[in-house]
Amino acid sequence: MGDFGNKVLFLNKNIMQTHSYRLYADVDLNYKKKGIKQQLYNSILLKLLFVLVVTAVFYFGISFVLKQKQQKLLEAERKHLLEQFLYLNQRMSKAEKALLQIQDEEENTYRYVLGLNPLPESMKEAGFGGTNPYSKYEGLVNSDLLISTAKRIDILAKKLAVQSKSFEEIIRAAKIREDKIARIPSILPLDRKKIRKIASPFGMRKHPILRKYKMHKGIDLVAKKGTPVMSTGIGKVIKTGYTRTAGRYVKIDHGYGYVSMYLHLSKILVKKGEKVKRGDVIGLVGNTGRSTGTHLHYEIQINGKAVNPEYFFDKRLLKGIKRAR
Ligand SMILES: [Zn+2]
Repeated sequence: MGDFGNKVLFLNKNIMQTHSYRLYADVDLNYKKKGIKQQLYNSILLKLLFVLVVTAVFYFGISFVLKQKQQKLLEAERKHLLEQFLYLNQRMSKAEKALLQIQDEEENTYRYVLGLNPLPESMKEAGFGGTNPYSKYEGLVNSDLLISTAKRIDILAKKLAVQSKSFEEIIRAAKIREDKIARIPSILPLDRKKIRKIASPFGMRKHPILRKYKMHKGIDLVAKKGTPVMSTGIGKVIKTGYTRTAGRYVKIDHGYGYVSMYLHLSKILVKKGEKVKRGDVIGLVGNTGRSTGTHLHYEIQINGKAVNPEYFFDKRLLKGIKRAR
């Protein structure tokens, strides 16, 4: 600070001394001391009061502003939430619509095609009984919207659960159907080009040897001796052998009550117990047993009852093949 600084300090000290001397000079000291105390006390009180009032005003002012700001924020948030809820409801409408479509397809296509019973209405309509699970939303702002949204979500969830169970059932049924389709006899037992004619159809006929009306339980397909005979579906050979009427024959079990039989063979190429695929060669066309010419007698039974094999082929397959009268 140097000389200049010291001089200023000295000056200040002088002034302060003169000033305080003047204050104490012209009145009674005791009285004056008391008055000063009171005055000091009053002024401190006043200042304190002032500070307090200012603080209070400031505090309330700020909190008012903050509250207003908060109110605005809350209001904005509430608006936003409401919009979200309405949007959610819109999306749920879409989901409900999609579900209805799925239910319709499921009922009128999948379940119908697979021969499954339709789902009971009561199961599809997922109702709610007993206690009111939405009482917690009551008395709130927008409680109607909250309750209706919660209800819609719950119903949708229940319906989806029912639907998913139904689809499991459909998938199971479809797998069985797929297996069944692979097993059930459905192709011609001979190469179509090698069939010369259908000598005898399924049904009542005058027997060519016995000369009397008898049920013909299969169809007779004429082909050259040695023409390969194929299994018409996946299955298991349950019988092979020779009888006076059937000649050499093969019997295949396809499951689901379906059995196919191949008679009058010249040669058997499978053994009992053997598993066969559709199209596997199981024997050769011949003229063994009670037969008037080289041909294959092909027969299908369902639960032991002979049915017309022609119902199992695509009709177009037999188109153009000659038929004996
Ligand atoms: Zn026959």
